Amino acid sequence: MDKIIKRIHELREKLNKYNYEYYVLDNPTVPDSDYDRLMQELINLEREYPCYNSDDSPTQRVGGQVLDQFKKVEHEIPMLSLGNAFNDEDMKDFDKRVKEVVKNPRYMAELKIDGLACSLHYRNGRLYRAATRGDGVIGEEITHNVKTIRSVPLRLKKDIDIEVRGEIFMSKRTFESLNEKRAKDQLALFANPRNAAAGSVRQLDSSVAASRNLDLFLYSVPNAENLGFTSHSESLDYLDKIGLKTNRERKLCKSMNEVLDYIKTWTDKRNNLPYDIDGIVIKVDDLDKQDELGFTVKTPKWAIAFKFPAEEVSTTLKDITFTV
Ligand code: NAD
Repeated sequence: MDKIIKRIHELREKLNKYNYEYYVLDNPTVPDSDYDRLMQELINLEREYPCYNSDDSPTQRVGGQVLDQFKKVEHEIPMLSLGNAFNDEDMKDFDKRVKEVVKNPRYMAELKIDGLACSLHYRNGRLYRAATRGDGVIGEEITHNVKTIRSVPLRLKKDIDIEVRGEIFMSKRTFESLNEKRAKDQLALFANPRNAAAGSVRQLDSSVAASRNLDLFLYSVPNAENLGFTSHSESLDYLDKIGLKTNRERKLCKSMNEVLDYIKTWTDKRNNLPYDIDGIVIKVDDLDKQDELGFTVKTPKWAIAFKFPAEEVSTTLKDITFTV
């Protein structure tokens, strides 16, 4: 038993350190696949030995932290994380858990953009506030930086009040040219496009974000039901109509087999995309069914993130220094 407790503490300590490096410093020291493996080990141990569960375990909390220099924003609807799946078996288990609660679910399969989650509020059709996910409840106000993203309309095609959420990212090409320039200027290199995007957005001076050519895909309308939608797919189609940018590679699937085909296709094709994706997100499409399924403290039970198998190796990140 002593060995188990020791391992649980060790894992929590390591994961907290990695969270800090990733979310606060925007400078990870281990690849995501290592982080995911350790997190999975901790989840399994806590499941097997529930007497050692603790509210402040990294398994129970959305990873981000809020930087002091930013104005804080409270998310009325928390911005949660997603449960993970790593293979077809995990996906079939997810399908089984869903079908224990609802009948005939349709699934929306979407690319999992590797960037930084962001919430945008429009009032009367005008962008008035943008915020990071932060710790899920409190985020950082980054309106000044989001306004520099050219694909984000400052005014919608309809004068409505709406909150939309999405992922801010940097394209592979922008990332490469940014790092080339930094190398020439003898500045430290960014570790990857995700961290370059996160570092650019969490800046007080908006001229930095403006110079970094960021982009954003919207992927959810948190209070879609109140706006009269009955499905997630319908709400995304609406975003397209009012001038917001969604990712068009999404696919509505009638069965888990269709989802698995979509995952296979994008596992093979992902390197051809002009931006990084780190997996596929699968969501139950019907909003009533989402409500029936509900949430855990950290994740919705109606969605899951399939993570691609690792392509990177541990040593690559350790040699890279990084600054904002
Ligand atoms: P997550 O990245 O596994 O999934 C949730 C996030 O996915 C959402 O918040 C959203 O930002 C994003 N997302 C992208 N496309 C989406 C879409 N179409 N629909 C919905 N959401 C979409 O969870 P997380 O809590 O943000 O991050 C945990 C992950 O971050 C880990 O699994 C690991 O890969 C990485 N991480 C790495 C380190 C490290 O040291 N390398 C440390 C901490 C976290």
